[in-house]
Amino acid sequence: MKKPELLLVGPMMPHVMAAMESDYIVHRLWEAEDREETLDRVAGQIRAIGTGGRSGADAALMDRLPNLEIIASFGVGVDTIDVEHAHDRGIIVTNTPDVLNDEVANMALALLLATTRRLVAGDRFVREGKWRDGPMPLEHGLRGTRLGILGLGRIGKDFARKAGLFGMEIVYNGRREQPDQPYRFMPDLVEMAAACDHLVVLCPGGPSTDNLVGRAVLDALGPEGTLINVARGTVVDEPELVAALVEKRLGAAGLDVFADEPHVPEALLALDNVVLQPHKASATIETRHAMGDLVIENLRAHFAGRRAVTPV
Ligand code: NDP
Repeated sequence: MKKPELLLVGPMMPHVMAAMESDYIVHRLWEAEDREETLDRVAGQIRAIGTGGRSGADAALMDRLPNLEIIASFGVGVDTIDVEHAHDRGIIVTNTPDVLNDEVANMALALLLATTRRLVAGDRFVREGKWRDGPMPLEHGLRGTRLGILGLGRIGKDFARKAGLFGMEIVYNGRREQPDQPYRFMPDLVEMAAACDHLVVLCPGGPSTDNLVGRAVLDALGPEGTLINVARGTVVDEPELVAALVEKRLGAAGLDVFADEPHVPEALLALDNVVLQPHKASATIETRHAMGDLVIENLRAHFAGRRAVTPV
């Protein structure tokens, strides 16, 4: 039987690409000299898209592929895929949830510890020889503080469980209360930020959360407050965040994600109260392998006539 044809929008890990090459006829769109010509030539044969991260899959791309059945995405966030349009057309969208909870939650914790205990500033302090002139100023510990989670989902719950070990009171905000959870629900985000020492963003990106964390939330968090964002840069109003940090209306920030990656606002680079990461919360070898395996399993299930493993 002829192999199904798959359009790979951007490169994936070698073991994922190798599995794809063995199962499908793969068209590597990012390597095409002429993207439009390639799409015109292969459009009618394509039954699957492999994508992820910034590449995504918009409605225009889907509509060029009349026989598209499935979009298999590497990553849990599907904000760069027009899921509604896919579902209207009966196209299955899959992502890679759960296998990355552990590491993304760990990154949120690492950023919370790095910002509150000023790890990067401390490292610089030692390297620059300033220690010889005296100690660094004292910091606040986590125990006894209040932590607000925006988005108590799969990652948020893993994070909350771990953060609880540090002796913080945990509250959360989202679109609805989850009565089975042991944490207090706070339906108003500004009120939650005002009541918290730390706000950790763990909700999805996309239009429904665009700039959800704006000036009012940042000011409510205040000059002693810490913002951690490992979700999507779009959830936080970035110019307002930069202004709040520069004007010291916000205490500190730990950021893994940005509005226009890989571009980071210049002003953040000069700030001592900010810890920056290049969007790598899920980027351990084990987790990325598990994510890649899930992409392959979703495709295999679909083309074997079974339900996809993790449909969106
Ligand atoms: P889930 O869907 O399990 O959880 C998302 C949570 O956000 C839910 O609790 C949901 O609660 C809440 N939420 C959804 N929409 C809104 C809204 N409009 N306003 C407020 N809260 C909302 O997702 P995951 O935990 O698996 O992943 C969360 C996000 O983390 C991903 O979408 C992705 O963007 C990001 N991520 C980042 C990574 C990185 O490398 N930095 C890696 C992996 C994920 P409710 O429905 O009650 O509102």
